[in-house]
Amino acid sequence: MATVKLKNVRKSFGSVDVIKGVDIDIEDGEFVVFVGPSGCGKSTLLRMIAGLEDITSGTLEIDGVVVNDKQPKDRGIAMVFQSYAIFPHMTVRENVAFGLTINKTPKAELDAKVAEAARVLQMEHLLDRRPSQLSGGQRQRVAIGRAIVRDPKVFLFDEPLSNLDAALRMDMRMEIGRLHQTLSASMIYVTHDQVEAMTLADKIVVLKDGLVMQIGSPMELYHNPANLFVAGFLGAPS
Ligand code: ADP
Ligand code: MG
Repeated sequence: MATVKLKNVRKSFGSVDVIKGVDIDIEDGEFVVFVGPSGCGKSTLLRMIAGLEDITSGTLEIDGVVVNDKQPKDRGIAMVFQSYAIFPHMTVRENVAFGLTINKTPKAELDAKVAEAARVLQMEHLLDRRPSQLSGGQRQRVAIGRAIVRDPKVFLFDEPLSNLDAALRMDMRMEIGRLHQTLSASMIYVTHDQVEAMTLADKIVVLKDGLVMQIGSPMELYHNPANLFVAGFLGAPS
């Protein structure tokens, strides 16, 4: 688990300001959901936290340490992408292990970590299959397994379920909720799906045009939206 703090974080691509001064505090072990319409900057924020994108100004702290200049691999963070980014020519075992092979982990330790991730995700029986022999939900598990083997303090999810059909999305949503109970890690989860946000979040950050509209628990946002935008996005139907 870790705390993550964004202080007046901004991001510009050339002359275009995409994130316009954002303050967000994430507590140890919290499940925080970023919601907002397409193009509001959700992925950019995640990519800055992961270290895949430079922060134009402001600070990012993990466990009280400013990490703006730290390499992605030194941040204790693992990201699960929307497109699963798993390799078709590798088995499930190899795909999951890939999360660690780039760190030259000893074989015995690697095997143990893969076995543990497979157990947590209930996919022990799939380890020798190739991605073409898996369903969409199973592929998504592989992508999550690859993050789990790295033992991150913080998991980042960028719309992990958006390519799945509705029924599977509900299964995987519960699975991710269960994962959060099982693993002691902070999780930041991006979605534009209100139901995912309301059911998974301890805290929701509503974004619009690179700005935070409101931060609060699902119930706070639902019953006390700060403005019409939040009300329209998450609030109680009138
Ligand atoms: P979201 O994930 O909420 O849909 P993004 O973070 O992907 O939004 O994008 C926010 C804005 O930043 C969009 O207007 C997008 O076009 C722009 N953007 C994202 N990445 C880049 C980039 N590498 N170069 C230029 N503009 C970008
Ligand atoms: Mg996005």
